[in-house]
Amino acid sequence: MNFKMILAIAILLIASLSLFHFTYSGSSSKSLVQSSGKHLEGIDPDEVDWRSKTVEYWESVLLPEQYDVCRLGGTERPFTGEYNKFYEKGVYICSSCGLELFSSDAKFDSGTGWPSFWEPINQNAVELKRDSTFGLIRNEVVCPRCGAHLGHVFNDGPEPTGKRYCINSVCLLFDSGK
Ligand code: FE
Repeated sequence: MNFKMILAIAILLIASLSLFHFTYSGSSSKSLVQSSGKHLEGIDPDEVDWRSKTVEYWESVLLPEQYDVCRLGGTERPFTGEYNKFYEKGVYICSSCGLELFSSDAKFDSGTGWPSFWEPINQNAVELKRDSTFGLIRNEVVCPRCGAHLGHVFNDGPEPTGKRYCINSVCLLFDSGK
C-alpha cells in the first residue's frame, strides 16, 4: 500500500465520520423540536380532548424526560431545567396540552433549582392533589386539562401569597407572545 492510498483511505474515513456526526446531531435536534411543543403547532389546543390521549401518543410527542416527569410523576434534577434561571416576560403553558399555567409576573428565584411561582395565572389554571409518596404529605400540582404532573406547592413562598409553586421546567413551555 503506497502513501497515496493510505491518504485516500484516511480522508474517506474522516469524511464518513463527519457525515455520521452531522446526521446524528441533525436527527437529535429534530426530535427536540418535535418534542418541545411541535404537537401543539397548527392546532387549537382548546378543541382537543387531551384526557383521551393514549400512552402511545404521549410517548410519541414528548421527550423521554418530559414523559417521565409529566406523565409518570418524576422530578427533573434541580438546576438543570431550561426555565430555572429564566426571567423573560410572558406566559408559561403546559408542555403537554398548551394550557396557560403561570405568568412571568409571579415567577421568583427560590434558590431550589426549579422554576418557582407564587401563584398560578388564574384560580382554575392548576389543580391540587394530595400526594403522600416518599412518606411526605405534599400537595401535587397537576394540569387540570390533560392531567400532567407539574410539581408541588409549598407554604414557604414570598408575599403576596406565601405559596411556592415548585414546577419542573420540562412540564412548561414559554410563550413570549401572550
Ligand atoms: Fe396540560
